[in-house]
This record gives sequence, structure tokens and C-alpha cells, in this order.
Amino acid sequence: VLMRTEEQPHASDVVNYAPFTLLPSAVPRALFEQAYAVQQDFNLLVDAISQNKEFLEQTLASTIKVDEFTARLFGIYMQVLEEGLAQTVFLGINRSDYMFDCGLDGTAALRQIEINTIAASFGGLTSHTANVHRLVLKVLGKTEEASRLLLNNPAKGLAWGIAKAWELYGSPRAVVMFLVEEIQRNIFDQRCVENELWNRNIRVIRKRFRDVFEQGSLDASRRLYVDGQEVAVVYYREGYVPQNYDQQNWEARLLLERSRAVKCPDIATQLAGTKKVQQELSRPGTLEKLLPGRSEAIARMRATFAGLYSLDEGEEGDRIAATAIADPDRFVLKPQREGGGNNLYGEELRQVLEKIKDSPDRTSYILMDKIKPQPALNYLLRAHSPLQVSECISELGIFGVYVRQGQELVLNRAAGHLLRTKAVEHADGGVAAGVAVLDTPYLV
Ligand code: ADP
Ligand code: MG
Repeated sequence: VLMRTEEQPHASDVVNYAPFTLLPSAVPRALFEQAYAVQQDFNLLVDAISQNKEFLEQTLASTIKVDEFTARLFGIYMQVLEEGLAQTVFLGINRSDYMFDCGLDGTAALRQIEINTIAASFGGLTSHTANVHRLVLKVLGKTEEASRLLLNNPAKGLAWGIAKAWELYGSPRAVVMFLVEEIQRNIFDQRCVENELWNRNIRVIRKRFRDVFEQGSLDASRRLYVDGQEVAVVYYREGYVPQNYDQQNWEARLLLERSRAVKCPDIATQLAGTKKVQQELSRPGTLEKLLPGRSEAIARMRATFAGLYSLDEGEEGDRIAATAIADPDRFVLKPQREGGGNNLYGEELRQVLEKIKDSPDRTSYILMDKIKPQPALNYLLRAHSPLQVSECISELGIFGVYVRQGQELVLNRAAGHLLRTKAVEHADGGVAAGVAVLDTPYLV
């Protein structure tokens, strides 16, 4: 369960262990099962949003006026639709993240933090973390407890989806292309998925936007070729933050989106994962419009929603902005960004909101109720850090995979889970940001 180091981010021969908890963390079984049970519903929902131009247009209208990154993605989306989609097979890999909100009476409730629709990571490494924790429990003489840790193999589940999309694309010589960042500290996570594909005799290449810009082209039927090889599936592990793009990279992204290749995700599905869309989904009636006739699925999804609030201009936005300024600890202020470390809390939230409350800039953010889990003690093991016991909270992610061919959904499943744990004093941040560490749920 390895990562490249900060000091030598390009080396695979000098590496360190990925940070992890010494012990598995207790997770209420009922909430764990609830999270699995709702995953296919969320897959359906994301897929439906990605095909609903009117909804995306309306929902993001205010955001793209002030948020340049979302506007740029949206521009590509519109351009590709205007030309007409060449892509006919669609592959979604997402991860729905939750925390366990502790009510006044001490009972815990499952609350969704967000759905990641692009580059959802750690499905690979976490396929091995249960083995680490099983060993630790055995060393401690807890053989019985060790045997209760669940099997978990998202790497296999994700690869299954990619393989299915590759097969439906229907060109046996075509490859799967992992689109990766310049610096790839988390490469071993990706290798776990890649190896599953090689095991199925599917060829995988790894390329950056820069390579696509230099070596990529489309033929007359918009088949994608990179470095002379036809690409069946593009699996993005890059492209979700503004820093990933310069002018050339934007051009490469457009080329990929125009192509017939299966993009995981296509640009519409990336937009479906924005915080603004998440906030709109919580409005009464929105889910019913997106998924007509699916009242049971809708009830399951809605049961996991936390309070979410629009900061669009108008009375509704004015009111919630004033409430949050008066009581900042009840909320989280979120911009349209991914990857951790962007949200604002407490005093900082108050200051920023105070500054932008009368400007259109506030519409680039949404507000969310702050989830307050019950902390538990654990040791966080991180290279070069002293070992000490910390008060910790956990975030559970469920991986979802689906494949659609035309209008027919040919695969829709939950593909495994991820538990990440961090010390309570860190409001934000994931594993890659150096805040959270890999964990294994121990169901209670
Ligand atoms: P990102 O796209 O940057 O991952 P998230 O919405 O997942 O954005 O937020 C990042 C982190 O902030 C989460 O992993 C979680 O630890 C914390 N966080 C986000 N929303 C909330 C919330 N409503 N209550 C408490 N913590 C939150
Ligand atoms: Mg997140």
C-alpha cells in the first residue's frame, strides 16, 4: 500500500507507505449497508443528469457567470453537443462520500458529503488495506475480530466497468488510456486498476494532456488515435482542477471530448458532479423531475442528504448568507472545486461571506450544513510523523460503476468501499492532501 514521496515524486524505486490508521474504525453496520443500498440509485441519478441538457444549463447558469473553470468546462460541453456526440458507450465511475452525523440523542445518521464523478481515487490501494488491518489485529491477538473484516476489492470492480466499456466499443486492438497528471504520487493506486485490465488482456497506456496535444488526432469517424494507437476508453485521473489546464491542455480536452472514445467521465458527467448541481438536487421536486416514477430510489437518496443552500442572488440567498454570518459553525462554505482544501469553515467562512455577500461572486459558492460525527481514538501512521493517539473522524466512500450503451444501461453496481480517517482538528482535506489516512471499517 504505497505512495511515491514528496521528495522524489517521479521515482518508483524510492517510495513510502501510504498513510493509514493503526486500527480499523468502528462503523455502524446499518449505515454501512444503507450506503451500499443507495449506490445504484446515485449511479442512475448521475447518468440521468449527464443526459439532461436543460437541467445542467439552468442549474449552472448563475455559476458559470462568475466561476471561470466551470464556465470553461461548460463551454466544451455545449460545443460537443452542438457538433453531435460521436460517443455511444458511456462509462461512469463515481464515489459517493458520507459522514456519520451524530444527533443530539447520540444516534448516528448517514449524511452525504459529495459524489465524485471524476478521478475518484484510492479504489486501488484500499483493495489492500483490509489485509494490513487484519494482520495488525492478529498481532494483537484479536483473531476473531480479524476474521470479521470485510473483503473489499474496488480495483476489480472499477476494472470490470472499464473492461465492459472497452468490449462494447468493439475494437479488439484499441487500448485503454489512463490520462494522468505530470506528478503522479498516487500511481500505485492506479496501477492496481491497470493490472486488473492487463489480467484481462486489455492493453493500457498512460498519457498526459501534453501527450494528447502532441500525439493525438481524430480520423474521419472521430476515432481517437494517440501515438498511433486507437483509444477505446479514456479514464481521467486528471483534469478536475483549474491547475491541471493550460491552453494546450484545454485543446487536448476538447479533442478527447469530441472523439468517439468512451470517456470516463464525459464532460457532462463531470459537470453533474459539481457542488452547485448537488445543492440543486436537494431542492424539493428536483429529483422527481430527473427520475420520474422512481419514488423509492428518490426516498433512499434523499434520506442521505444534508441541508444544502443556494447563494444565488435574491431573497433566499440573502437570508441564508445572513444566517451563516451569524452562526458560521453550523455551515461549510464550498466553491466549485475538487480535491480537498478548498472549503471554508468557522471564522474564515464568516469573513469571506461578509466580504462577498452583496456581490455576484457569492454565487460561485454553495452552503452546506456542517456534519458533526462522534470522534473516536486511533493512531494515524504517516511517514516521518511522530506516533500519537488522536481523536479521529471517518468518511465512508462507496464506489459506483455503470455502463450505458445508447439508452440501455448494461451495468450498474456498487464496486466496493473506502474508509478515510482524519484527526478532528482538520476541517478539510483528503489522503492526497496529507490530512486523512486509509482505514478499514469494523462493522458494529
Ligand atoms: P472536495 O471536492 O474538495 O473533496 P468535499 O465536499 O468532499 O470537497 O469536502 C472536502 C472535505 O471537507 C471532506 O472530505 C470532509 O472532510 C469535509 N467536509 C465537507 N463537507 C462537510 C460537511 N458538510 N460537514 C463536515 N465536513 C465536511
Ligand atoms: Mg471530497
